[in-house]
Amino acid sequence: MGSPIEYLDGSDSRLCSRCATEKGVLITRKEVFCKACFIRFIRGKQRKQMQDEKYKVKYGKAKELAALNPTKILLALSMGISSLVLFDVIASLLQEQMEMHKGNTGFELVVLNIDEYELTSLNNSIQAVIPKLKSFFSYVDISFKVLNINSYILDETLIKRIRLYPDFHATMTDSDKNVSSGLKDLLLSCPNKSSAEDLLTIVFDELILRTAYVENCSTVVYGHNMTRIANEIIALTVKGRGSSIHEKVLDHVVHYQDKSIQIVYPLKDVLRAEVEAYCNLIGLSDLKLESTKPKATINRNMTIRDLTTNYFNQLDATGYASTASSVVKTGEKLGPPKNFESSGSQSITQCQVCGIDIHQNPQNWLKRITVNESAPLVTEEDEEYLKLYNESKSAMASLGETEESEAITNPLGICYGCIVTLSSIKAEDGFLWPIRNSAQEKEDILNEYILTEDEEE
Ligand SMILES: [Zn+2]
Ligand SMILES: [Zn+2]
Repeated sequence: MGSPIEYLDGSDSRLCSRCATEKGVLITRKEVFCKACFIRFIRGKQRKQMQDEKYKVKYGKAKELAALNPTKILLALSMGISSLVLFDVIASLLQEQMEMHKGNTGFELVVLNIDEYELTSLNNSIQAVIPKLKSFFSYVDISFKVLNINSYILDETLIKRIRLYPDFHATMTDSDKNVSSGLKDLLLSCPNKSSAEDLLTIVFDELILRTAYVENCSTVVYGHNMTRIANEIIALTVKGRGSSIHEKVLDHVVHYQDKSIQIVYPLKDVLRAEVEAYCNLIGLSDLKLESTKPKATINRNMTIRDLTTNYFNQLDATGYASTASSVVKTGEKLGPPKNFESSGSQSITQCQVCGIDIHQNPQNWLKRITVNESAPLVTEEDEEYLKLYNESKSAMASLGETEESEAITNPLGICYGCIVTLSSIKAEDGFLWPIRNSAQEKEDILNEYILTEDEEE
């Protein structure tokens, strides 16, 4: 038995350590739980993370204000077990509020699914599952939204051909081809599976924020459990996105257009094995959607996330589940790069591929480790970048002078993480991708909202 949870069979007569009356069904964290107490225990983890007044039922003056501007929470429902469990946990909170406050609730819930059916060959379509979800959660009032992944492309003229140069400058030029292909096709031309996975994460994050923005949701909740968060922290580090750990996998506030949106991970204290147990106990497991694509079994064919997932699976199996907790605790200590906030000498720009703040020009840093002879190559990664640099230099030799001058006329602002992701694109082909244009985005997003209304349930 390697799981952090031990299931008790019918012959085991141990009683639940919480209520001391019911028969125990499982042991987790060295405690015996009956079904009801275990469910209450997991729900308690969410209640603890979301104690803010704004989620509570309001009275008096606060009630009048809330009537004008109700608190709305967006739940990102991937249909994996963690997000399904979070859905149940939040729905139960709404139910509790209604029972205790004469039918009133402290917030409204909007549930968003980004349809992955085609992209990841899901075992079932979200449209087929929504009626079952609605009947499962019929005791609460919820607004369901389903978004097509192609809605990430706000404007086809923003699909540019991105090129990376040997000195790590990036350029964008108008695509010469007539681009009518969707995001799936653009992702198919990704240099490798990890790049596609990384870009897809960018797409999901943006679509979720955009929906929160147009739906007036001041909070977004993700179902990530502790194991998943630890996994993301390691994966971000490997992908060269370590500087955004504080704003990708931990509770934080995002300033999106003219609004502030709070991002909360209410299940961050719950282990994956506990999420699985909860899902099975309440009978939600049948509703989960998963990819039917066979999983890569050879390391070489795995994405970065496949590898880190395997790593944590193995830790769980060998009883080192506390590693996840240590990784999350370490991640929580990280913040944005400090010296750049106060100095003011360097204005912060945004990456035109993923939208994050660029605190430090990645080209300077990369040049320092790859070009400057005096900087010693310390790690294997350094060696990799030198190899990369030499490869791209020889690839560049085949390109004309005119191409190089584009670096000056059509520069693309790009962060270190996106350079890593796109580093293996061929210089002569470039890579087609919708770039970000913050000046134009707000209007496009509002227009997009009208366009997608027919997709709403
Ligand atoms: Zn009990
Ligand atoms: Zn970026």
